[in-house]
Amino acid sequence: MNSDFLALAQPGVQKLSPYVPGKPVDELARELDLDPATIVKLASNENPLGPSPKALAAIREAVAELTRYPDGNGFALKSLLAARCGVRANQVTLGNGSNDILELVARAYLAPGLNAVFSEHAFAVYPIATQAVGAEGRVVPAKDWGHDLDAMLAAIDANTRVVFIANPNNPTGTWFGPAALADFLACVPGHVLVVLDEAYIEYAEGGEMPDGLDYLAGHPNLLVSRTFSKAYGLAALRVGYGLSSAAIADVLNRVRQPFNVNSLALAAACAALEDADYLAQSRQLNDAGMAQLEEGFRQLGLSWIPSKGNFIAVDLGRESAPLFQALLREGVIVRPVASYGMPTYLRISIGLPAENARFLEALSKVLASV
Ligand SMILES: *Cc1c(COP(=O)(O)O)cnc(C)c1O
Repeated sequence: MNSDFLALAQPGVQKLSPYVPGKPVDELARELDLDPATIVKLASNENPLGPSPKALAAIREAVAELTRYPDGNGFALKSLLAARCGVRANQVTLGNGSNDILELVARAYLAPGLNAVFSEHAFAVYPIATQAVGAEGRVVPAKDWGHDLDAMLAAIDANTRVVFIANPNNPTGTWFGPAALADFLACVPGHVLVVLDEAYIEYAEGGEMPDGLDYLAGHPNLLVSRTFSKAYGLAALRVGYGLSSAAIADVLNRVRQPFNVNSLALAAACAALEDADYLAQSRQLNDAGMAQLEEGFRQLGLSWIPSKGNFIAVDLGRESAPLFQALLREGVIVRPVASYGMPTYLRISIGLPAENARFLEALSKVLASV
């Protein structure tokens, strides 16, 4: 007799929709019989610069040791991060991407009967990680596309264990300032773990965005998550980290896989951290590309949500799905965000100047013809 293995899955898992990633270049190339080299992908907030040469050199060296398990404690990378971030090494948790950190938090602190609070239009991994462990996700309506921190506070109850906040948020690019974060942290009950997701923090300059690290000492219930996937250009290697009180890091280390970060990722991340030139170049490229896209949208009469990330959400003023499809036929991959409750928007990752220009040209064409 056949069993229904969907019905046998945990209730939260049955209701999950899988994460939908940006369309891979090779997939579109196969589907449309295109040369992959002619395709522009601005769909997954990847760094268009290519990896740091220093990271590549570190990987080449580490390849010789592939028969060995990686350092399960990630000593070298944790030490570097601790020094860089002004914390102790026992406050650092390494993850297989910062995604892993979010999942470790859910596994360790959420369960049926408990809940996590997050915003409408927030990063898709928060509901997935929450539901996967049978906990309730409390979605708080957004305000001007961004997090409504007061409403999020009001949604917290005795069964809340985690609040996920992204600054800036993906896919909206919206952000909150230091005063808003300080007020929020001051009001969150001590039993609630605040996960401050700073996947794009390296792109921030000046004082408009808070630096989560400034709040760690005063808030033992705060975890700041960061990644090497965006500004550090190592998305394929899957390496991210959490910074928190030592007590939280200790808990997360109990549930993580013993070798969750591979040795090439560890070596590359160490090298990338020390490549200040690469980071500065990434930032510069992002600022210029953001200005280029904004100017292009202005010329096309489109509005957009101002962004502090390496991406921008543009409002096409009508259902964006057909335009997304038409862009694919032009060899340009961007990201539809209807599943985030933004059916008239597309999210565009900032590319190289020529890639941005190619996208704007294709957008202009499909807007006129679709
Ligand atoms: C990209 C992203 C991440 C994490 O990506 P990893 O590759 O798993 O480190 C986390 N949060 C947000 C908001 C992101 O956009």
